[in-house]
Amino acid sequence: MSLAVSLTNLKGVGPRVAERLERLGLHSVEDLLFHLPYKYQDRTRIVPIGSLRPGAEVVIEGEIEASDIKFGKRRSLLCRISDGSGSLLLRFFHFSAKQQSALQRGVRLRCYGEVRRGPAMLEMVHPEYRQISEAAVVAVDENLTPVYPVTEGVAQKSLRQLAEQALALLKQDKVEDYLPGELLEELGLPSLQQALLEVHQPSPETAVAELLAGNHPAQQRLALEELLAHHLSLRQLRHKVQQHTAPPLQPEGRLRQQLLDLLPFTLTAAQLRVIKEIDADLAKPFPMQRLVQGDVGSGKTAVAAAAALHAIEAGYQVAVMAPTELLAEQHLQNFTAWLQPIGLKLAWLSGKSGAKQRRENLALLESGGAALAVGTHALFQDEVEFNQLGLVIVDEQHRFGVHQRLALREKGSHDGRVPHQLIMTATPIPRTLAMTAYADLDSSVIDELPPGRTPVETVVISDQRRDEVVARVHRACAQEGRQAYWVCSLIEESEVLQCQAAEETAALLAEALPDLAIGLVHGRLKPAEKEALMARFKSAELDLLVATTVIEVGVDVPNASLMIIENAERFGLAQLHQLRGRVGRGSISSSCVLMYHKPLSQQGKLRLAALRETNDGFEIARRDLELRGPGEVLGTRQSGMLRLRIADLERDKDLLPDVARLATALLQRWPQNVAPLIQRWLGDSQRYGDV
Ligand code: ADP
Ligand code: MG
Repeated sequence: MSLAVSLTNLKGVGPRVAERLERLGLHSVEDLLFHLPYKYQDRTRIVPIGSLRPGAEVVIEGEIEASDIKFGKRRSLLCRISDGSGSLLLRFFHFSAKQQSALQRGVRLRCYGEVRRGPAMLEMVHPEYRQISEAAVVAVDENLTPVYPVTEGVAQKSLRQLAEQALALLKQDKVEDYLPGELLEELGLPSLQQALLEVHQPSPETAVAELLAGNHPAQQRLALEELLAHHLSLRQLRHKVQQHTAPPLQPEGRLRQQLLDLLPFTLTAAQLRVIKEIDADLAKPFPMQRLVQGDVGSGKTAVAAAAALHAIEAGYQVAVMAPTELLAEQHLQNFTAWLQPIGLKLAWLSGKSGAKQRRENLALLESGGAALAVGTHALFQDEVEFNQLGLVIVDEQHRFGVHQRLALREKGSHDGRVPHQLIMTATPIPRTLAMTAYADLDSSVIDELPPGRTPVETVVISDQRRDEVVARVHRACAQEGRQAYWVCSLIEESEVLQCQAAEETAALLAEALPDLAIGLVHGRLKPAEKEALMARFKSAELDLLVATTVIEVGVDVPNASLMIIENAERFGLAQLHQLRGRVGRGSISSSCVLMYHKPLSQQGKLRLAALRETNDGFEIARRDLELRGPGEVLGTRQSGMLRLRIADLERDKDLLPDVARLATALLQRWPQNVAPLIQRWLGDSQRYGDV
């Protein structure tokens, strides 16, 4: 039987099960082989109870010393079990009378479960257990037990059985290895066949610690192949985009010069360099795909405007898209101030424009009467027609993944022509990560802040000194005529609860600071309400703005000089850096107070110290990557977007340089392997390959 055959050829897979397996993207036996364990259970040894740490998933064995029913909020059965080295509590919330009578003092048990810290001692909640007799020696497993991602209606046990059948077939047949032997040899990694056998069915000789940590050569081999597939698919995507035509834009630069004469500042060397890189792309007959990274306040908007005027002078329209209404409005203000004096018309597409205004703006875009459109994703709704769209600028793009990037491009295309695309983000992305997550984009970095900015002074203090912080807010607002932000603690996952917490904070602050005008913004306000409040803060009608993290990106209020962040230890570093970037936007000296709640872990201390020590967004991103991993840096959505099966960007970051090099080798010497390799790992989710 070949590995390409349908799963229905396996024992236990009828039409119903097959359908459920489809939901996991599993169609053929080969797919099943690439449905990899995401972790292992170690049932190969019995761990002394005295040596247990919370978080460990282990087998223990011992004798029940006491067994009691506890009546509290929830009735539960508690059994204390001991093995001489220490004792542990087994906690059952659901149990039958039969279980209760079986779990009596003096009974010997072998249990498997996760160790947790309980109120009095370490616990296992609902462990798997079986009773064993003192005399009999019951063997432990020889191999680590793989744990597979499951779906509703397909149990872990069935997946293990299916994997076993698939492996039996793998031993007869051979799976195509797209990594040539000479490359593997050079890297010291096993063949695909060996690697698959090892990760699904670790042999008893396998280095258990390596496998559990994910750095066993078999796992590394598969992780490398997976990262390679992702990288190649993005490179292929980039190549495909370059097959499209885009209007080459090479105007004299008259309009841009007018803008530069108008600006109250001169551009920094970094801004000028990035503009030059953009110009070189715009002059090409295929679409630009450029990511501009620049720290908060580095002046990305002026760079965007310079690019926009180039396109406009060449006779094309420009769309500027922001992720929120508030940011879109801020762009509208900037672009209006810069473009109107030059005699250019703007269109504004927002969720809240009235029907008449909307019609007028749509007509302006369709006729070409408006040179530039500003808006949220409303810009790309079906009824929006551009006359000649030449350039799309997307601000704060780190919130979108590759799919959204492509959807945008598709919507902007017209008559086979694709507009140039410029993407701007304030989230600095370390180079190694960019290679995996953004290999389809060219990248520019604005690595310099405009002169005259006083760095934000950052202090880290315990929330036990809250009174001092409140006094500081009073000083800044009532005595120095400045404004302040107070970002509320991020305690609850639920938005409702977060808003409640913010409301409470605002009320307490209003009581403590009766002479200040205080506003409150949170995620449950209607966009119009939120914007009205922001506008009042911007016009200095409000002194203090209490907020949940909705003010995270882009908002520009130069008179605000103080940022207070509660429970700072709960935020990602990149997010804290963004929040801090809301102050220090004028020339006045500003500060940021990071309040934490005790006890602060060692890692928490390091993280907050990183913010105190540097104002450099790239350095912070680098440390964030080190301390918390790529999810934090890219945003969970972004890294989740990659949907990696076995590779882990953080754990496997040392593989990344090999990935780029192997990709080049493969494209040059074994180009026929590229497409099947991508298909194997990305399968159906690879839709974006055919833009
Ligand atoms: P960001 O990169 O965070 O989007 P902005 O484009 O909002 O930054 O710019 C932040 C502030 O700096 C704005 O008030 C802008 O007018 C100003 N700015 C931009 N470039 C310069 C420059 N070269 N010199 C002085 N100020 C500048
Ligand atoms: Mg900006």
